[in-house]
Amino acid sequence: MSQIRVTVWGENVHEKKHKVVADIYPKGMHTAIADALAQDAEIKPRTATLDQPEHGLTEKILAETDVLTWWGHAAHGEVKDEIVDRVQRRVLEGMGLIVLHSGHHAKVFKRLMGTTCDLKWREAGERERLWVCNPGHPIAQGIGECLELPNTEMYGEPFGIPTPDENVFISWFEGGEVFRSGCTWKRGNGKIFYFRPGHETYPIYHNAGVQQVLRNAVKWCRPEGGKYAAGCPNIPIEKAKEKIKVTTKVTVH
Ligand code: ZN
Repeated sequence: MSQIRVTVWGENVHEKKHKVVADIYPKGMHTAIADALAQDAEIKPRTATLDQPEHGLTEKILAETDVLTWWGHAAHGEVKDEIVDRVQRRVLEGMGLIVLHSGHHAKVFKRLMGTTCDLKWREAGERERLWVCNPGHPIAQGIGECLELPNTEMYGEPFGIPTPDENVFISWFEGGEVFRSGCTWKRGNGKIFYFRPGHETYPIYHNAGVQQVLRNAVKWCRPEGGKYAAGCPNIPIEKAKEKIKVTTKVTVH
């Protein structure tokens, strides 16, 4: 099987502004994520950032992307709507999309969900346990019964998303809240996975379990082929599968 071409998109704003984030991710979160994905020979990652022309997501790059991962937080509003349109179209065509942490409020995610994607949050360095809801799910392979993170930002329910096709993880936080931390959907031909951990001031993307989930998710999200409905073509009578005539007289029963 050919390699899965992944574009790891990073806003790359906190890394340049905050020393604590730069110390954890000297080459940016996007590079740390790409390096984690590259540990699997089946995955071929590249990176793209907000400050690049067309946010690094040109038509050509997206056409060559099987799975896109998205981390954003401080600059959701700076993402151009035409790029959001482009990403949405590629997802409908079959590109996989993995939305990370504060990407819950990314324009791309909100567009694809069609809901507020709002949630509760608290920054107190709490312990988090991501419980595996379905040990048979491909994204949960190698994780065991739960993934424990010593210090995280809390995200709590209610989470304003459409009901997921599947909840792969549910998180518990030290303060008592819970959250649907790993959710899947399908939009058009594209598979979407939202994965909660990833606050910039904790070394979340250096965690081996988190890295394993990301690699599993890329494989789960890979396109499955086939064309999604595009356009509304008229099929003339002479091209109907069966020979038919135009009926003008309507029979009333
Ligand atoms: Zn955060």
